Amino acid sequence: MLNIKYEHTTTKKEKPDYSKLGFGKYFTDHMFLMNYSVDKGWHDARIVPYGPISLDPSAMVFHYAQELFEGMKAYNDPNGKIRLFRPDKNIERMNRTCRRLCVPEIDPADALEAITAIVKCDKDWIPTLPGTSLYIRPFIIATDEHLGVHPSKNYLFCIILSPVGSYYANGIDPVKIVIEREYVRAVKGGTGAAKVGGNYASSLIGQQKAEEMGYAQVLWLDGVHRKYIDEVGAMNVFFVIDGKVVTPTLENGNILPGVTRMSCIEMLKSWGMEVEERLISVDELEEANANGKLDEAFGTGTAAVISPIGEFNDDGKIITVNDGKIGPISQKLYDSLTGIQWGKAEDPFGWSIVID
Ligand SMILES: *Cc1c(COP(=O)(O)O)cnc(C)c1O
Repeated sequence: MLNIKYEHTTTKKEKPDYSKLGFGKYFTDHMFLMNYSVDKGWHDARIVPYGPISLDPSAMVFHYAQELFEGMKAYNDPNGKIRLFRPDKNIERMNRTCRRLCVPEIDPADALEAITAIVKCDKDWIPTLPGTSLYIRPFIIATDEHLGVHPSKNYLFCIILSPVGSYYANGIDPVKIVIEREYVRAVKGGTGAAKVGGNYASSLIGQQKAEEMGYAQVLWLDGVHRKYIDEVGAMNVFFVIDGKVVTPTLENGNILPGVTRMSCIEMLKSWGMEVEERLISVDELEEANANGKLDEAFGTGTAAVISPIGEFNDDGKIITVNDGKIGPISQKLYDSLTGIQWGKAEDPFGWSIVID
């Protein structure tokens, strides 16, 4: 039990136009904070008005990027109940990331209590239009005032909330992806499997290049052989080749283990479908395409859930997938997962948790 202290805002913000939310543009009235010190451990859990955090310029997070985050959503269901989707999986992953970055872990029950408390506190911010939700961003930063390179002794855990729009306001449109041949996102032994801001800082240049070419995102290849497919921007990636679902294996430790990825695999298996987790090379993809066997490609992640991929560009060589349209497996996964997340469909897995 955290014994959370509440300081409620005296000036509630005006709500944004819920039909034009986009992603991560608006923030709610409150935020959750909790500090860590060596002698007290995680302590001083509190919910306070949303606003700037004051830190010393020497705070370690600014210099050595000892920072990690999570991303999940709260959903308003048809009965007006608030739901979370597999929050235990995000909390487990956050603690795995903590271990990789030498950050002290947070007791999973305390983390869930914090997430639940801040969502309930600002529940009037959970949008109700179809496809909208409240994005939850927990993060931890190193706050030692010191320029020596070592794990910080003090940390701040913060949770902020952002009402977000439907990713697909105009129906599910497949995205176009560039295969990145110059830069890499992660290598074996690095932080690819950890959800850390540093991974994103190093990937921005590839993303920028892709956008300049008129593409939505980058397909990252493994950093050692430069031929196996890792993942897409902030999404894991799946292919349907010759009727079989294939996704890159997590074994090398350079891919972020997505909760959506895991849920897709479990769901596909529950439908009696085979899912192969293994190495997939770009060559295999191009060959499957040449033989007319590349049936579908899609990304998976909390923000978009399922994002069909209509085209890959590999140094000018274009691979068109399913005529640039969403395929039947992508569509079925999208419908089934979102049905469970928004509490509109039966949940045989027990993934969707009512919190209020
Ligand atoms: C968060 C993230 C994902 C998707 O994970 P989900 O738990 O499904 O949202 C995939 N790749 C990267 C790099 C990520 O940061």
